[in-house]
Amino acid sequence: MVIVRSAVDEIVRHAKAESPDECCGLLLGNEAKIDTATRARNDSPDPARYRVNPEDHFGAIHAARATGRRVVGVYHSHPRSVASPSPTDLAEASYSEYLYLIVSLSGHDEDAVHTGGLRAYWLRDGRAIVETLRVEP
Ligand SMILES: [Zn+2]
Repeated sequence: MVIVRSAVDEIVRHAKAESPDECCGLLLGNEAKIDTATRARNDSPDPARYRVNPEDHFGAIHAARATGRRVVGVYHSHPRSVASPSPTDLAEASYSEYLYLIVSLSGHDEDAVHTGGLRAYWLRDGRAIVETLRVEP
């Protein structure tokens, strides 16, 4: 999956702004490329978890459709840990067609350095399948 640099930058900015709480948002684009990251409210009462606000989710779907795109995934942050899905992330992943993008702010995620701390996964049937991310300048 390709992701444009401006979307990576926006996700990192959002994650830093909400840290040490987790942030979340939606990814817009098509099946080959993410071109926009849109912030969403985090409805989780637990700051170390995330739940995308449904209104923001529908708003992103509407905005994507209006411009001939789709919501292709969801992002959230791991302020203190590596960008791997937690057991909760796996258990609560309800969209098998969505790419789940996680940004780590820990600075220790060496597998994610070349993507600005981002890693991407398909979360299906309680399993995480790694998707290679390529950042387009
Ligand atoms: Zn997580």
